[in-house]
Amino acid sequence: MITAQELRTFLNWPAQKGKQVLSVYLNMEPDWDKSAERKFETVFKTLMQKVRKEVPAKDRAALEEDFKSAWRFVSKYEPAGRALVLFADASEGYCWNREMRVHLPNRAEWCEKPFILPLLEAAAENKRYGVVLVNKAQARLFTYFLGEVEEEIDALAGSEVQSKKSPGRDSLRSQFKMERTADMHVQWHLKHVAELLGKIARLKKFDSLVLGGTREAADRFERLLPAALRGKVAGRLALPVHAPEKDVEAALNKLESETKKRSDETLVHQLTQETDPMDSHRLLGVEATLNSLRSAQIRTLVYSDRFGASGRRCGQCGMFAAPEGRICQKCGAQTEALSQVLEGLARRVALRGGRIEAVHAEAAKCLEEAGGIAAILKEKP
Ligand SMILES: [Zn+2]
Repeated sequence: MITAQELRTFLNWPAQKGKQVLSVYLNMEPDWDKSAERKFETVFKTLMQKVRKEVPAKDRAALEEDFKSAWRFVSKYEPAGRALVLFADASEGYCWNREMRVHLPNRAEWCEKPFILPLLEAAAENKRYGVVLVNKAQARLFTYFLGEVEEEIDALAGSEVQSKKSPGRDSLRSQFKMERTADMHVQWHLKHVAELLGKIARLKKFDSLVLGGTREAADRFERLLPAALRGKVAGRLALPVHAPEKDVEAALNKLESETKKRSDETLVHQLTQETDPMDSHRLLGVEATLNSLRSAQIRTLVYSDRFGASGRRCGQCGMFAAPEGRICQKCGAQTEALSQVLEGLARRVALRGGRIEAVHAEAAKCLEEAGGIAAILKEKP
């Protein structure tokens, strides 16, 4: 898990001339069951070989120091999450690491700032969910973010009122009375859960809400919610109130990837269709997106998860340019080749409060036909 504060620190990282940071992403999933094999150590060494080849001879010594610093950690590491992230700059005695519960592909980069594109993508893709599992007498409340479920409130023991048939002459009447009492208890219980959810919502600010438990109780609970929360209900989980936490996590993982797939397809469809109502405030393709003088106004940067084009950047004003743009369109200065152009652009968008969306699978293929990258601008010109 990474906090918004940490992400901000990496976004505001001051680049210093001649200083480089080694960034390593190691996927830990193959090691879940066979930790003795420590496959990630081999992956780490392979990644280091690749980085070595890309670095000019004069920088090798500094790079080797960063390797050593990272290796000291990796060689002793006991996998616990689904991915390990590590940033090392030995010249500063800096070595930061974090376990993540989301899938992150293997990758290593050596550049002037920590390479955070995968972290930005993970944070953008993983919305915060509120989860309520509820039946007539009990409820559990969770929040879910970055692949991790956190139980907020454990099984509330509501008033367990059973409408047993009572003996005696007035049995019918008293049964009716008890059922009515039982129903009132259910109503109190659901209202109480809605209040608790409201409190958690104020603290955790989740984007979506999913409900589970028994269908009847969940439906009734949904109707009791204030409009603002009801509007966030994104779906149902077919899980009982006492479902183990790992089942809740698995169900949310699935729901999240399905939701993401649908929204990717809608987004790319909107961006690429010819008669688009957003036409005047969209940029489509490498040229249009990188050369735009309006990159500061990007609200959403959208790209295929395989996008790998390089680009250029103006040394004077920091403006990005497509691979052919040797002269800065803004200030006329010479531009320099930049291999991590996507990282640079994504950082800029994130710093200005914009969103980044890496699209996958079919949506990615579709966007690639239009250049693999696009942007939606904040306002019409
Ligand atoms: Zn310039």
